[in-house]
Amino acid sequence: TDEAALARTRTTCGYCGVGCALDVLTRDGRIAAVRPAKDGPVNRGHACVKGRFSHGFLRSPERLTEPLLRRGSDLEPVSWGEALDHIAHGLRAAIAEAGPDSVAAISSARATNEENYLIQKFMRVVVGTNNIDNCSRLCHSPSAAGLTAAFGLAGGTDTFDDVERADCLLVVGANPIEAHPVVGARLLQQVLHGARLVVADPRAIGLATHADVHLRPRPGTNVALFHGLAHVLLTEDMIDKEFLRHRAAGLPELAAVLDHYTPDRVAGLTGVPASDVVAAARLYGRAERPAIVYGLGVTEHLHGTDGVRALANLAILRGAVGTGRGFGVNPLRGQNNVQGASDMGALPDLLPGYGKVRDPVARGRAEQVWGARLPDHDGLRIPQMFAAAREGDLRVLWVIGEDVVTTDPDANRVIEALDACPLVISQELFLSETARHADVVLPVASWLEKDGTFVNFDRRFQRVRPALTPPGQARTDFAIVHALAVACGADLGCSTPAEALAECARVAPVFAGMSHERLDREGAIPWPCPDPGRPGLATLYHDRFATADGLAHLSARPYLPPGEIADDDYPLILITGRRWAHYNSGNMTRRSGVAELDPSERLDVHPADAAVLAVRDGDRVLVESRHGQATLPVRTTEEVTQGQLFCSFHFPSSGVNALTSSHADTVTSCPEYKVTAVRLRVR
Ligand code: SF4
Repeated sequence: TDEAALARTRTTCGYCGVGCALDVLTRDGRIAAVRPAKDGPVNRGHACVKGRFSHGFLRSPERLTEPLLRRGSDLEPVSWGEALDHIAHGLRAAIAEAGPDSVAAISSARATNEENYLIQKFMRVVVGTNNIDNCSRLCHSPSAAGLTAAFGLAGGTDTFDDVERADCLLVVGANPIEAHPVVGARLLQQVLHGARLVVADPRAIGLATHADVHLRPRPGTNVALFHGLAHVLLTEDMIDKEFLRHRAAGLPELAAVLDHYTPDRVAGLTGVPASDVVAAARLYGRAERPAIVYGLGVTEHLHGTDGVRALANLAILRGAVGTGRGFGVNPLRGQNNVQGASDMGALPDLLPGYGKVRDPVARGRAEQVWGARLPDHDGLRIPQMFAAAREGDLRVLWVIGEDVVTTDPDANRVIEALDACPLVISQELFLSETARHADVVLPVASWLEKDGTFVNFDRRFQRVRPALTPPGQARTDFAIVHALAVACGADLGCSTPAEALAECARVAPVFAGMSHERLDREGAIPWPCPDPGRPGLATLYHDRFATADGLAHLSARPYLPPGEIADDDYPLILITGRRWAHYNSGNMTRRSGVAELDPSERLDVHPADAAVLAVRDGDRVLVESRHGQATLPVRTTEEVTQGQLFCSFHFPSSGVNALTSSHADTVTSCPEYKVTAVRLRVR
């Protein structure tokens, strides 16, 4: 093929949060090839199988191409006018009868920034509620809370370019070789070039085979482990006293707590040998440029925010953040735009740019730009929305680009909530499990068919451009929200994505220098970017931290046990996560060619546990928790520790999230996906 003859569109991958720049080559309205961009700021000519090859879903005959409206037990095709009028009527009735807080929306971490901006504006201005949330609630909300408390801003402290100069990597609760392959490859490259590597993960993930020390804590014991590492830093004098004296607060309180986390005690709490705790702490503590990279194995816990803060303690103790002597604390975001959805204010307590809805100054700034009075109390978080629906307090639930039945915990309770809510709207590519429970289903454009921006895991805004037109009557989320506002008799202004980002820049000082025009000219730009004439800030906190007192804050919260532990009734612990070929609910990847390489769900079981049950590879077992059950085929592997199990949630037919619990982070309500007590029965 002569590639020069093909249409070429530069866009940003819509799968994981790495944000690879891709050149999409098209011919006659179909994708001919996807090429990783050599000048991509993070990927530099690389991409994984998802970004390069998982686009077959675009032509799937199952794509939704027209709006559907429930009539009795059936969903029937209707015109856009009828679908939008039905929703507008439902919204008006709910607001009139039960008030604006009887309406809630779950926005999408896969939608663009501009779409998220418009959706939250619709909810706040047209409906008059802060009941807007996005799926960062289910993954990195503890990162936002923990990093903000420790350092002042809700993003990672450094760029990946910084991390790549580290001489010691502490990779915690993340499996980047499978879940963020381009970052995984770059981390591995760095290790091959001499960086020391400490991996903390209960499973024998690929990166662990290259680690100097692999810590395998019992699920739910992260805080004890991090305190154990901090104890060694403190007792062996591997701390930056100058930094702690001038730029940090909370050392005496933390030191008092750390007294109780001797390596021997930590070994008892976590199952990690005391010698490994000491060895890992020495590697991190003696490195000149240490960096922490972490994932959902830190956040998706009953005390996930405590975990983020205990991890941040390590960087603060070492003076390894905001000093150029180390590369801070950096979360790997799961979904492509989970950072951006939160940045844009699709959150119940925060406006675009993280101004609090309860703060009259931040609210006043948005009110002035939007020309409307805004609600001044926090809205509902996603789990609270489901609870309100079950209790009959929610009249309308609008779910945008999320298959909550497949991905949210305690799925049977989620289904109860959807069935109890009088009007459920699902905006989707396919008739997902959630869409099957909806009253109105709206067909949407995919990431390859829309215009806007995403924010990747290291806070870079990047352009998203349409390589194709959506099929049938499918529309972008942006166009749908606009049309719904018109159907409601409102005008949201900003009629294009570029206008929406320009308006967001007026609402949120941290994005004041951001625009499509500038991104088209300069390429990726990190936030904070308060000035159109100056570059965005890639590495944070050079002079001061963004906290009220300008100091980094240590956390002295003690270790508290997880919501569930193994016992006689449920003797095994199930961990859920991702596998390399798939993405979240699998809606897109299961319908693309790469899925043939990883076609079905399986339950990873340690050979010793399999022997006790007398099961072998391929045998189907009934997995039971206190919340539900699922049937899965066994794969025996020593990747999991004895007493622990692992499976993904990419296959709705397996119903894995019927097993997971409603236990959630005590600060942010992020579900405790990583610790579910279960038992197995042979089928
Ligand atoms: Fe890059 Fe992630 Fe897309 Fe793979 S899925 S190409 S690593 S952004």
